[in-house]
Amino acid sequence: MILVIIEMDKRLKAVLDKELYREQHNIELIASENFVSKDIMELQGSILTNKYAEGYPHKRYYGGCENVDVAEELAIEYVCKLFNAKYANVQPHSGSSANMAVYKALLNPGDKIMGLDLDQGGHLTHGYKVSFSGKDYVSVSYGLNKDTELIDYDEVERIAILEKPKLIVAGASAYSRIIDFKRFRSIADKVGAYLMVDMAHIAGLVATGLHPSPVEYADVVTSTTHKTLRGPRGGFILTNDEDIIKKINKTVFPGIQGGPLMHVIAAKAECFYEALDPNFKTYGEQVIKNIKAMSDTFIENGYHVVSNGTDNHLILLDVKSKLNISGAEAEEKLGRINITVNKNKIPNDTLGAKDASGIRIGSPAMTTRGLKEKDFIEIAKIIIDALENNESEQKLIERVEKIVMEYPLYE
Ligand SMILES: *Cc1c(COP(=O)(O)O)cnc(C)c1O
Repeated sequence: MILVIIEMDKRLKAVLDKELYREQHNIELIASENFVSKDIMELQGSILTNKYAEGYPHKRYYGGCENVDVAEELAIEYVCKLFNAKYANVQPHSGSSANMAVYKALLNPGDKIMGLDLDQGGHLTHGYKVSFSGKDYVSVSYGLNKDTELIDYDEVERIAILEKPKLIVAGASAYSRIIDFKRFRSIADKVGAYLMVDMAHIAGLVATGLHPSPVEYADVVTSTTHKTLRGPRGGFILTNDEDIIKKINKTVFPGIQGGPLMHVIAAKAECFYEALDPNFKTYGEQVIKNIKAMSDTFIENGYHVVSNGTDNHLILLDVKSKLNISGAEAEEKLGRINITVNKNKIPNDTLGAKDASGIRIGSPAMTTRGLKEKDFIEIAKIIIDALENNESEQKLIERVEKIVMEYPLYE
């Protein structure tokens, strides 16, 4: 519902036009990205952006909130149903602010948190030194087992007993295996720590039962809406604990945010509504099938895929061990043939973050476009041919173009 044809600044119009072209003509393999429905875009780009609604439904600091109240109530109703949780806060502007809200609600500055090392798949907000989470809190980290490249739960327990953190974070940005939330709960209980699960990446799989849910084990669960959940850019928080939700609500507003983004909250509600539809489970199943097909193709061709495969929507491909190139070089090379990935450190990487030995590859976005296993096998082959210089760039671009033309986007 665009109310008027806007005379937009020409340079901004060009940004929009070129980005549409880029999204349509690239093979998008960034594991944290997706393509939202037109309904979600409609809500996110809507008149709801005009409304100030500080506070919570029916307890606002502004008049005229009767319509946006309904949107926020629907978002809460749908997200609680989707994840089988008692309470939700849907106002965090992003995954990072959801995490900030939880730390501020449950901890004091200087308290100790413990999360997965950034270099081994964790997130900045899990205690990394350049993030508020590593500055305002004392942070210790756990890593992966060197041989299996899986979370080493015995080691997590050992460090937790030694360090006695007040809060343990489970969750990752670059980890391709099932996370054992039950084990994390038992470790947290042994040392009297809160357990926060950050399911930002896997929320869409959790929603459909394709990854075990953290909700029954964690004191509090945080997430983004824009990754596998395929919603607008934003965050949310779940808990089954009445005291905790009270603290979190106060911390989100007025603690760290002012007016909620009501247009985004309405779009989040639509996202949760779409995820409740049985079709979303079929989508999630295809996401996993697709990345597995790709992972198998790399392994058959002699590549090291971290942990030898995947249970979720992503893989970490080690390009250094096979080709002696960095992840940065691989990212650049693939970018030239219209395949978008990001360089990523692999466990026990010998290169720094700027170069990295691997690339992270995810299937959510291209699965939304409708691609199936055979297409992901072909993409893996294109990637191999590009990285090994088996074919001219022109030929590779043609192979990419053939795929993107077969699965139109936003037409
Ligand atoms: C993406 C991500 C976030 C942060 O999300 P933003 O919306 O970018 O702030 C937090 N935690 C994890 C594990 C993530 O992968």
